[in-house]
Amino acid sequence: MNCSGRVWSWLLFFLIVSVPAFAQNSSAAKSAAPTITIAVDASDAPRKIIHAQLTIPASPGSLTLYYPKWIPGEHGPTGPIQELTGVKFSANGEPLTWRRDLLDGWTFHVDVPQGVSLVNVSLDYAAPAGDGGIYTGGMSATEKMTVLNWNTVLLYPANWTSDELTYLASVRLPAGWKFGTPLPVASQAGAEIKFSPASLTTLVDSPVIAGEYLRIVPLAENPTQEMDIAADSAAALDAPAEVLDSYKSLTDQAFKLFGARHFRDYHFVYSLSDHVAHFGLEHHESNDSRVDERGLVDPEHRIYNAGLLTHEYVHSWNGKYRRPADLATPDYEKPMQTDLLWVYEGLTSYLGDLLSARSGLRTPEQYRDALALIAARLDHLPGRSWRNLQDTADGVPAMQDAPDQWESWRRELDYYDEDVLNWLWVDTILRQQTHSKKSMDDFCHLFHGGQSGPPAVNTYTFDDVVNALNQVTAYDWRGFWTERLTNHGPGAPLSGIERSGWKLVYDDTPSELFRIEERYHDQIDAAYSIGLLLKQDGTIIDAIEGMPAAKAGIGPGMKVAAVNGRRFSADVLHDALRDASAPLALLVENTEYFKTYNLDYHGGEKYPHLAREPSKPDVLSDIIKPR
Ligand SMILES: [Zn+2]
Repeated sequence: MNCSGRVWSWLLFFLIVSVPAFAQNSSAAKSAAPTITIAVDASDAPRKIIHAQLTIPASPGSLTLYYPKWIPGEHGPTGPIQELTGVKFSANGEPLTWRRDLLDGWTFHVDVPQGVSLVNVSLDYAAPAGDGGIYTGGMSATEKMTVLNWNTVLLYPANWTSDELTYLASVRLPAGWKFGTPLPVASQAGAEIKFSPASLTTLVDSPVIAGEYLRIVPLAENPTQEMDIAADSAAALDAPAEVLDSYKSLTDQAFKLFGARHFRDYHFVYSLSDHVAHFGLEHHESNDSRVDERGLVDPEHRIYNAGLLTHEYVHSWNGKYRRPADLATPDYEKPMQTDLLWVYEGLTSYLGDLLSARSGLRTPEQYRDALALIAARLDHLPGRSWRNLQDTADGVPAMQDAPDQWESWRRELDYYDEDVLNWLWVDTILRQQTHSKKSMDDFCHLFHGGQSGPPAVNTYTFDDVVNALNQVTAYDWRGFWTERLTNHGPGAPLSGIERSGWKLVYDDTPSELFRIEERYHDQIDAAYSIGLLLKQDGTIIDAIEGMPAAKAGIGPGMKVAAVNGRRFSADVLHDALRDASAPLALLVENTEYFKTYNLDYHGGEKYPHLAREPSKPDVLSDIIKPR
């Protein structure tokens, strides 16, 4: 509504204002693309403020400057504009007047007087000090470490593509901090690092991780691949050698999967802190991934995080090198279109999980447990009835920050998980059609391989995906994907699991991963018995429509106070669920009122697993076998 109105007005603005400029730039004028200097002072990072000084070539008149808005990989207008503070423009020592654009809060118009050829900008990035902000706009600095994402600390002039603009960047770090980054370094003097000239595209694609406790772990040579790990303690860096060996194996297995590499060198920029936002963001020559402080040293935490770095690494091929044409925008102002995220994210999730098993980061059982969790959630998804899979991708720029309450009815970003099941299904079709001579590995060689070399972007459309699949083996791939993206179920697409020799089953014993996920999210997951997801204190996060709790009248935001007359705890609830012969009465508080709900449920506890289907060959184990 409001959002799409703004987007379209800006798309229109872009077409009117920018296209003639690009046309002009593509002629002889292109050589005049400006070089901008940016000096970042991150020495105040523990105070959660980053300072920057820029000099931007300009000519008299109105200078339009953008703060990056559509951040690659974040799939929305997430540039943290509310954290951009202390902005001052000057020239020849005199302050300049400016005004923010009335239609777009990320755009500034600066009045440049006669005789001025360089505009100086000083600005601060007020890094979030608590919850708030998402992805790179979330918490990024602690007492001991920080991750600098250049898009948070810069402005860039309109009418140039991010490939055309050159930035001369430098950064000052807190004294004694070490750093890692994919951005080529020109020189270092003490705490100040100067980088080689880079396009704005490369700069924004190249985070810098820095900290007192920083460990560089070499993974491979020719090209160099390494982990640049910063943590809130020295102890958190002390990962077992076999874990790091699995990441070495990951680089090898990925090369075997794709057959080429599209980076000069590659850095796993890895944050271990309980005080930074937790997510992963892909880049061409790195990924910015952030987990809790014990993420490498605690076995349970490693199991929980085992799919993160593999996913982000796959993105170097699927997402960065091969990119949907309508996501490959010329700058960070033009809106991105997200309709092909079922390839960009869905295939990445499938391949990332597969590589987590092939590299040894997950055991085959842990791989199957993760698959079972995905399949079970998607098999209990009433939101499927009104919203198809395609819409989960189309809607993400507006919807990705949606709350957890009513998630099963709203649907979340299912183009990740559901397309793990769909691409597995594709893999089994490829194998069956070719009598096991071809598989997704052949598709990856064809689609993502080619010539190894420095970063390049090779765009695609829906038709290109269908054509590439048909090159591996002829099939009605257009019909397959059209149906997968537009169906309304009921139930999850389980054919890939079943065709690979396994089936989704439920029993009364949770998998190790299931319990770890519950602990991580401070949750009790009773989704497959009574259809409830609760906080450990009894607060109801979601009640799945059509299942016993929802049928009895329970909804999100209520809080379970007692179970069968006894004060609520996780154990009390589990005991009551296990006793299938007893009635189940929940005393629930809702906006200060208490009521007892009687649930018609006698099915015991239910937890998802994959079980072998002995009548069929075990294709799944072959899929995840190391190459
Ligand atoms: Zn991703």
